[in-house]
Amino acid sequence: MIVLLSIILLISYVEYMTDIFLSNSLTKRKEVFCSLNKDSIKMYACGPTVYERPHMGNARAAVVYDILFRVLKHFYKDVVYVRNITDVDDKIINSAKSQNIAIDRLTMQITQFYHQDIAELNCLSPNVEPKATTHIKQMIEMIEQLINLGHAYVTQAHVLFDVSSHSNYGELANRLLDEMIAGARVEVVPFKKNPADFVLWKPCEAEGDYGFESPWGRGRPGWHIECSAMSFAYLGADFDIHGGGTDLMFPHHENELAQSKCANSGSSFARYWVHNGFLTVNGEKMSKSLGNFKTVREIIDSGFHGSVIRYFYLTTHYKKPLDLNNKALEDAKRAMKKISAVIHKTDSKKIKECQEVINFLADDMNTSAALAHLHELAGKSQQGDEEAHKQLLWSLDFLGLEVIAKEVIPADIIKIAQERLQAKREKNWPLADLLRTQIMERGYKILDTDDSYELE
Ligand SMILES: [Zn+2]
Repeated sequence: MIVLLSIILLISYVEYMTDIFLSNSLTKRKEVFCSLNKDSIKMYACGPTVYERPHMGNARAAVVYDILFRVLKHFYKDVVYVRNITDVDDKIINSAKSQNIAIDRLTMQITQFYHQDIAELNCLSPNVEPKATTHIKQMIEMIEQLINLGHAYVTQAHVLFDVSSHSNYGELANRLLDEMIAGARVEVVPFKKNPADFVLWKPCEAEGDYGFESPWGRGRPGWHIECSAMSFAYLGADFDIHGGGTDLMFPHHENELAQSKCANSGSSFARYWVHNGFLTVNGEKMSKSLGNFKTVREIIDSGFHGSVIRYFYLTTHYKKPLDLNNKALEDAKRAMKKISAVIHKTDSKKIKECQEVINFLADDMNTSAALAHLHELAGKSQQGDEEAHKQLLWSLDFLGLEVIAKEVIPADIIKIAQERLQAKREKNWPLADLLRTQIMERGYKILDTDDSYELE
C-alpha cells in the first residue's frame, strides 16, 4: 500500500515538474531550462527604438517574449521581465529633425503608441521598462570599468571596445572576426585599432547637438552599451534569459555579451539566448523602400482584432520566419471566430488548467501545437463536453487570446456592401455578385434583407 502510494505521489510530482525546453542560440541546442535560482527568474528582452510607430516585426518579438513570460510565471513564483526603451539613437535624432519636433516629444509619443498597440495584442507589461536616457550614469560607469580593465580605449573623443581583448568574441553569432567585419555593418574608421571595435561612447558633432556630459566630453552612448547597462541595473551581472529578434544577434547581442562579460569579470551574462525569426510581407523582407512596411495600427485599422493578430503570430514557431499576408490574417480571423462561436454558446464561466497546452508551450514554446489543441477542445465543447470547455477558457486566457465578442465591421467592407445595395437597386446583378464575392473573400458574410443587408 505504502509503495503504491509512493508511486502515485512520484508520478504526480513528475507531472507537476514539467521541464521547460528552450532553443539556446549560445549553445545552438534545444535545452532543458535550468534557472540560476530555484524560485526567481530573470529575463531581459530588447525593446523598441522609439522613432516610429511599431511595425508588425516589432510586435512579433513582443508577443513571443510575452508568451515566454507567461510560461515562466506559470512555473516560477517570481519572474522579473525587463524590456527596455531605446530613446537615444541616431534614428531618433534624424526623425525628430526631419519632423521638426523636439526629441523628447517624439520619443514620448512613440513610446505611447508602442504601449497602446502592444496592449491591443494583449501583451502583459514587463516588470521594469527602463529608458536609456535615464540610465546614462550606469552606462558611463560601465564604460569606465571597461577602460580600467583594458577592454576599451579612448580615441578622438570616442570610446571604443577593443574586441581583441576578449578571446571569446564571436561566440554567440558563431563567427570568426574577419567574417564578421566583412559581413556586417561595422563602420570602418581610421582611428579604430581593429575594424570590428565598436562604439561605447561617441561625441556630439556640433555644439547644441543632443547629448550628455561624460568624462570624455559631451556625447551619447552606443546602442549596445545601453542594454548591457540596463540589464545589469535590474538583473545583475548574471541572469537567466536574454531575448530579441534574430536580426539583433550580430552585432547587437554579440557586443552586449562581450562588454558585459568583460565589465563583470567571471560573469557569463545571460545563460539562455532566445531569438525570434524574421517577419516577411508577402514573401519579401519588410522594408520602407519596397513599400510593404506594415504597422500594427494599420493592420488593426483594416479590421483585424488584436487577438486575431496575436493568433496569427502563434501559428508559426517563434524561431521560424513568419509571412504576413492577407490570407494568413483571414485564416487567423476565421479560426478565432470559430473558437469564439463555441464560447458564445455556453454560459459557463468556470475554468480548468489544461496540462496539454502547458506541455506544448513548455516545449520551446510550441504555440502551433497549443493552437491545434485549442481547436480540439473547441470541437469537444461544441459537443457539450463541459470539461473541455473549462480547459478551453483557461487556455485562451493563458495564451492571451480574447474571445471576439462582436466584430466591428471595417469601414471599407461597409462601403462595398453599400455599393452592392445600390447595384441591386439598379438591377446590375453582375456587379452585385462581384461585390458579394469581394466581401466574402475578406471573410465576411452578407445576408440580404428587405431592401437592405446584414453583415457578419
Ligand atoms: Zn538590446
